[in-house]
Amino acid sequence: MLKDDIAQVLITEEELQAKVKELGAQIAADYRDKNPLLISVLKGAMVFMADLIRAMDIHLGIDFIATSSYDGDTSTGVVRILKDLESDIYGRHVIVVEDIVDTGRTLNYLLEILQARQPASIRLCVLLDKPSRREVPIKADYLGFSIPDYFVVGYGLDFAEKYRNLPFIGVLKPELYRKK
Ligand code: 5GP
Repeated sequence: MLKDDIAQVLITEEELQAKVKELGAQIAADYRDKNPLLISVLKGAMVFMADLIRAMDIHLGIDFIATSSYDGDTSTGVVRILKDLESDIYGRHVIVVEDIVDTGRTLNYLLEILQARQPASIRLCVLLDKPSRREVPIKADYLGFSIPDYFVVGYGLDFAEKYRNLPFIGVLKPELYRKK
């Protein structure tokens, strides 16, 4: 079973569901009558986004953007857009939905690109934060959980494209890293 590969469950399914409901209610209250556009960063934030929007009882739109990771080249911090939005965000209230902020480079770059398109406002909703790893100052407006510096999988987050379908957030057994 997939969960046999997990050394430690960091956040249970119940804790995730409760937190996402709380975040959804809070964002919905803040954006009532604003028809916000929620932008999910593929693929990791897909599961979070799917649950979050169902916890929001207001009109809203969704869109998706995909960026390349900087594959070992952390020095440049250059992130490329692999799939752009379908919507025009000019004048829209935008909420960027991301799975995790680590160094902050991905979001820093993405926010810069989106800001240039002149949305009415832009806020950040992040499920997980690893503050100890931050290299650029990124702060979520809505945050699920702060976690220690573990490499985590599940609830959308992968290791080599696997484990995204685990319903909780866990830490992989170290021998599975070494195998790759
Ligand atoms: P940043 O640009 O903030 O360093 O990295 C953000 C991206 O790195 C996330 O969107 C995610 O794809 C990946 N990432 C960072 N930490 C983790 C982690 O613990 N587990 C997984 N699966 N991905 C991570």
